[in-house]
Amino acid sequence: MGKGHQSLLGFDFKIFFVLSVALNVGLISKVLYQGEEGNQENKISMICLDTKGSRHGDAHISMRRTLAYTTTSNNVTEDSSGGDDIVIDLDHGNPAMYEEYWKHRGDEITVVIPGWQFISYFSDLKNLCWFLEPELAKQAIRLHNLVGNAVTQDRHIVVGTGSSQLYEAILYALTTADSPEPMSVVSATPYYSAYPLQTNYLKSGLHRWAGDAQNFSTNEPYIEVVTSPNNPDGSIRQAVANGDKGILVHDLAYYWPQYTPITHQADEDIMLFTISKSTGHAGSRIGWALIKDPEIAKKMTKFMEISTIGVSKESQIRAARILQAVSDDYDSISTVNDDDRFFDYSYSFMVKRWNELKAVVDKSEKFSLPKLPPDTCTFSGKTFEPLPAFAWLKCEEETVDDCASYLRSHKILTRAGKHFGASSKYVRISMLDTSYKFKILTERLSKLSTMKSREF
Ligand code: PMP
Repeated sequence: MGKGHQSLLGFDFKIFFVLSVALNVGLISKVLYQGEEGNQENKISMICLDTKGSRHGDAHISMRRTLAYTTTSNNVTEDSSGGDDIVIDLDHGNPAMYEEYWKHRGDEITVVIPGWQFISYFSDLKNLCWFLEPELAKQAIRLHNLVGNAVTQDRHIVVGTGSSQLYEAILYALTTADSPEPMSVVSATPYYSAYPLQTNYLKSGLHRWAGDAQNFSTNEPYIEVVTSPNNPDGSIRQAVANGDKGILVHDLAYYWPQYTPITHQADEDIMLFTISKSTGHAGSRIGWALIKDPEIAKKMTKFMEISTIGVSKESQIRAARILQAVSDDYDSISTVNDDDRFFDYSYSFMVKRWNELKAVVDKSEKFSLPKLPPDTCTFSGKTFEPLPAFAWLKCEEETVDDCASYLRSHKILTRAGKHFGASSKYVRISMLDTSYKFKILTERLSKLSTMKSREF
């Protein structure tokens, strides 16, 4: 065997192995990276099939324990050992922090679905969105009315497989096949990293991503996505593009009182919401759009019909039950403690997390966070600074141009600023992950803050 072979199979095999692991990790993280909120936790749960106690065997709320189990293939669990060696992945906006809350609520919010139910494609043929479960529509309206974050009168509700599918549906609905050029889609930087991907991935002739709305000017029709509060930086936003033929899509995924003061009832023509961020049930994949123009709602429904022939009824029923539980807590007859009501609990939780993170960052010259002005919340009556679902962290050191790589070298995975059309000095860090990961995050940032520059 020649020398080259010898070294490949002998000593250099280690290098080969390291390279191969690195390539595989790279490939996997690329897949997770480019899709938006990929869930790295591998969770398996069994639906409890139980017709006992249900009137007519309909889907009902089980009073007995569900046969459910969870496996976590995530590298960070409460009982992990290894301290400094643990890689914490806070790249995705996985809302794992809500698990604890819903676990405490117990069986009360369990949905049981008999085998015969939801066989049909159809939910409500009288409704423009014929696959929308009436109970989901009812509970979404009820919750909006309770919170006061969106006008629901004279609106059509279109349900989607997450608000991600609704984004695609609205682009389809607002564009026309006979237009000579694809319609431009813009959003102000830093914009939600999934928009460019979702707009362009099929290389559609209907629409194309045209980047930062602040530097955009046109006489042609265009679509501007206004995300408020914004992902990644939590800011409250208005349309900014320069043109008089813009159609606005308001992505209000985070316009809920645990993240931001509710200041008014949003009264836009096109508003997108999702259960992923409102209650944390990202795995159910349910979003809803409130649409003023029936023609647009019809076209969105058509999109859904063509792409997935509707939206899972099981998911809609579960989502409805969860929204119902949230509203029920605020009824005058509710027996739930005020502090245990969903928005009270999640607001306090976010306050605590943000106080902890700010305590670390404020002491540090190496990192900074955006300063967001306080406002008074019409829902809670409290005055507070926004508590975004993500920390938009800046590495202030001159020697650090690529904040994500710097943090990665300290085993903190974040999403780099460039994915949001922003500078690499910034990263987005999820504030919604498990308490365990969050604790490691604050400990590590604190440690990094006290390190001398050359130790970087
Ligand atoms: N819009 C924004 C601003 C988001 O942050 C997200 C999720 N990260 C979505 C839409 C998509 O949410 P869903 O899980 O409902 O598809």
